[in-house]
Parts: sequence; structure tokens; C-alpha cells
Amino acid sequence: MRHASGQEGGSVQQYYRDGLHVPYVTAWTAEVVPQPKIIRIVGRGGEGIGYEDESPVTDRRHEALWVRAPLARGRGEPVFHRVNTHRQKHALRHSLCQVCGESVHGPQADERTLHLLGGDMPIAEGETTAAPPVHPICAMESIESCPPLGRGWVAALVDYSPLWGVAGVVYDPVTLEPLPSPGRRPHDLTHVHVGDKRIRWTLANFTVVSLHGVTAVSLDELHAMASRP
Ligand SMILES: [Zn+2]
Repeated sequence: MRHASGQEGGSVQQYYRDGLHVPYVTAWTAEVVPQPKIIRIVGRGGEGIGYEDESPVTDRRHEALWVRAPLARGRGEPVFHRVNTHRQKHALRHSLCQVCGESVHGPQADERTLHLLGGDMPIAEGETTAAPPVHPICAMESIESCPPLGRGWVAALVDYSPLWGVAGVVYDPVTLEPLPSPGRRPHDLTHVHVGDKRIRWTLANFTVVSLHGVTAVSLDELHAMASRP
């Protein structure tokens, strides 16, 4: 059997740097490119922000304007504090693990998905997040090796997680300056609901889901889940 571009049996290629597993969603230097200037436009849904050379296909989704990023996973060096917008969307939409990129729904797995967030505030019912799910074993690996999670993390099993909106930077309709984020967790982008009028003034980085049927998972429970075959 031939394996094209390092893919084996349909599995997702994994990358390592200095002994660290590079998460699937992590951005690479070849994916970090200069962004076009933001301008004011009048579109079908009214006034908002846009690009001079905007493509209705690739630059706009859920009425928001989207950041531009090529897909070049593995090219250059990983940028651990950044996430590639396309892989984030893909992982969230298809329930792929944010660490290894494989589906979190195994053949006999629980229908629920495991979510791991930074900080020490328990995950609230209905909380919105841009973080794709994780496998228990990948969550353990992240807790052990990802510096921001070393400062605190919370995990929960979630019954369902429908699309809620986007995470991005909202621009002031008058000054066209970016507005600060009122995020609940550190370094949060602003979460804007798909029905919110501000979505036309938002430069979106990620899609956002809301978490429902939330059951908190302790470190011991996570260990037990990770050690199951
Ligand atoms: Zn995984």
C-alpha cells in the first residue's frame, strides 16, 4: 500500500518539534500572512466591514468577514499560541480532536464530546467556545505539555454543541477601530452570535459552538477515561 504525503491508512499526519506534539489546529509560520486593510462596505445585509478585493466565497461566512490564512500545515515552524482558522472550523464542524485531528467519535465511544478549556472557572451550561473537542488521552498530553494549561484547566463531557456564532474582533462602526473583548477567559476573542447585528462589524477568526448538557470531568476521571482502550 502506498502512503501519500505521510498519510497512513487515512489517518492524520502528526508533527513534532523539540519532542513536543504539535496540535492539529496549531498555526504554522507559512500560514501567518499579512492581512488586507479593513474598509467600510455596504453589502446585502447593510453596512459593515469588508476588504477591497473581497471574495464572497472565501472571505464571508455567517455574514462576518473572515481573516485570511493559507493552509500550509507542517511548513515552517509551529506557532503554538496561534490556531489556523481553517483547521479550527474543520475540527469543530466534524468533531475532530484539536490535538491529533482524528474524529473524537470512535466506534463504541460515548456520543458526548470532551472539551478542555484553560482557566479554573468550571465550564458553564450554554458556555460558548471556539475550542474543538479532544480525546481523553490527547487532553492528558496537553495538560502535561501545554504551558497555558499548566496555569489551570477545566474539562467537561458535553451532550451537544450546536453552532452559535463566531469569535473575532468587533470593529467600531464609527471609528472603524477594533473594540476590546469582554471575554470570560484569558485572551478570548469576542464571541458574536450569528443573529447579532454586530456580526457585520466582526473580523472573524473562528467558529463558536455553545456547550449543552455539561458534566464536569475531574483529573482522576480524565485519567480513567484516558486509560480505557
Ligand atoms: Zn486526539
